[in-house]
Order: sequence, then structure tokens, then C-alpha cells
Amino acid sequence: MRKIAAHYSLIGGELRRNIVLSVDDNRQIVGIDQVEQLDSCASVEFFPGILIPGMVNAHCHLELAYLRGAIAEGSGFAGFARAIGAVRNNFSTEERLHAASVADAEMWEQGVEAVLDIANDELVMPIKERSRIEYLTLFEVFGLTTQNIDNHKYMASKWKQSSVTPHSTYSLQDDIFRSAVEANDKTISVHLLESKDEVELYHNEGSLKQWYDKMGWECDFLHYATPAERITASIAPEKRVVLVHGCEATATDIERIAKHFATPATWALCPESNRYISGSKPPVELLRTKGAKIAIGTDSLASARELSMVENMRLLGDVPLTELLRWATKNGAEAMGLDAKLGTIEVGKTPGIVLLENCDLHNLRLTPESRTRRIL
Ligand SMILES: [Zn+2]
Repeated sequence: MRKIAAHYSLIGGELRRNIVLSVDDNRQIVGIDQVEQLDSCASVEFFPGILIPGMVNAHCHLELAYLRGAIAEGSGFAGFARAIGAVRNNFSTEERLHAASVADAEMWEQGVEAVLDIANDELVMPIKERSRIEYLTLFEVFGLTTQNIDNHKYMASKWKQSSVTPHSTYSLQDDIFRSAVEANDKTISVHLLESKDEVELYHNEGSLKQWYDKMGWECDFLHYATPAERITASIAPEKRVVLVHGCEATATDIERIAKHFATPATWALCPESNRYISGSKPPVELLRTKGAKIAIGTDSLASARELSMVENMRLLGDVPLTELLRWATKNGAEAMGLDAKLGTIEVGKTPGIVLLENCDLHNLRLTPESRTRRIL
């Protein structure tokens, strides 16, 4: 049993002072006690900073960790996709496995408790199975030239915490998009409105349209007016959905999505990846104004210098710290369906305990030096 305290603790979605957390040997929270004065409590370990539950990375591609630093920043959306294709085969299996192991260990040390991870193959699945981090793996389906998702279903049937998901609203024809949605029995995660190219495709113009024309690929889904309309037309309201990026989402898109889903869809924002690829930004204030549910993802090391939740929080701008912390913890856990045990500090849960240090504690803000580290 450990008794732990800090300047602040994130309890019930709010930052509270003079809290002592009691945690048993199985990492379960067994007590949350408000005390008069922390320094009078014997046998309490005190940490300078803010105690938060283990964080949930709502969007990652662990298998791409070997691409750390391999693709130049600012290549743009289409340039980035081409660059991945060009460098993908320059690395050995050992290099890929090693990079994924290192990234997994870094996330754990940093205080990540669960990851909603997107995968194309099974290579790093054993690393995720052995990890202390809880992963949900979604095998992403691309389908402009195929209707077949048998292999994805097969992979999902082999690994316990996994399922199938459509990659995006621009990379699958209508039927296969619906099949991938149908095959998902956990959380659906779709890359949505990451760049203007995606919006332009629905107007039959732009770089994606040019690329598809050159390849001779015809899209049978452009009768939907927008990518957001395609989402609501193809995914049943009761499904649990994570929409990734949303940089180009308009007020109309956000309202359409909000109206459709019975359980609010989660917008997984990955601002470091957007900055890295194209310099674009997620519409944080618009989403907040519309009351949308937001979580935070790191995306992959192909488009981020590190898998840092704090760096992504910092890049989301002038948002109250308590709100940012809820996005990084509770909202991600709910999006993954893990909120019964993770995402908040509550008696009976096993969320892990993480210290957010080097904050401006007076104004409750992140600083350039803020970082997280795992306490347990
Ligand atoms: Zn992604």
C-alpha cells in the first residue's frame, strides 16, 4: 500500500488540493482522502506537481515507430503519403520491432495507460500483448481496388483486443467501408477531414482526385456531399466512434455528427502530427463551442518527433488545464470502452497514477518544461 500526494490531484474531473491517494499493491485506488494539511500526514509520499490518472492515447500507429525522423517535416498531406511508401521498405524486421518496443516503453514511462492503436499487419502485436499498456488494435482497411476484408477479419479473430476499422472516408469504396464498419465489434476509428485534399475530392477536384485519376481509380462514394455526411450515412447511431484529426471540420460537419450518434462521437486530435505534416491545426475552439467530445492522440512517429501526450496538449492552445487533462485521460478511456477501470482516479479503479510536473501551479498552465512521469 502506498499513500501519495501532490500540490494538486485530478479528482472527478477537477483539480483538488490536500488530497491523499491510497493505492494497494494491485494498483487499485482504495482511498481518496481530503486532509487539513499535507505536511502533517505521516508516511505520505509527496510529489511536486499534479497527480493525474494514467493517460489514454486515443490515436497511434505503434508499428510505424521505425519511421522516427525518416520523413521530412512539412511534406504536406499527399507528399507525406508518398514519402511513407518510398521509405517503408528500407528497414529490417528487427529494426521495426526494436523501434516499437522502445516507443511502447517510452509511453509507459510517460504515463500512458491505454492506446487506441491502428495497424496494417501483425508484426508488433506480440509487443502489445506483452506490454503493461492496454492496447486496442484496429486493423485498418483500405479499399479503393478491393472489396475483400477477409484478411483483416482473420487478424482480428486471432488477437484478443482487436477489431477491424475503415481507414478513412477517401480510401474505401462504399460497400467495403460498410463491411469494415459491420465487422467492428469494439470502437470504430476513422481518419476524418485531416486535410483540404479530402474535402476537395468530394467536389471532384484537388490532389487526391488527380492521383486517383492517374491510377485509374474511380470513387463510388462521391454522391455523399461531404466526408461527414458519409460517416453519418454509413455508421449506425449506436456505434462507438472515434474521428481522427478533423482539421477541416466545419460547424455543419460537427453538428451533423453530434446529431447522429447516440453515444457522442469522440474527436481524437493529434496536433503534433498536423503540425509535422502540413502545419494545419485542429479546430479546437469550434469543437469546444459545439460541446464536442475531445480526446488526444499522438499519431505515429512517422509524423511526430516523440509520442508525447503533453506536447500534444501544449499544441492545443489556450484551453483550461483541467479540460486538457480530462481529454487526455477520461475521454480517451470512454472512447475505448475502458472507463469502468481507467481514465479517472476513483476508489475501485486501476487507472495508474502519473505526475505532471514543471507546470505553472499558480495559474494552472502547462509550461514548455512540463512533462509527465509514471508514479505507479
Ligand atoms: Zn493515423
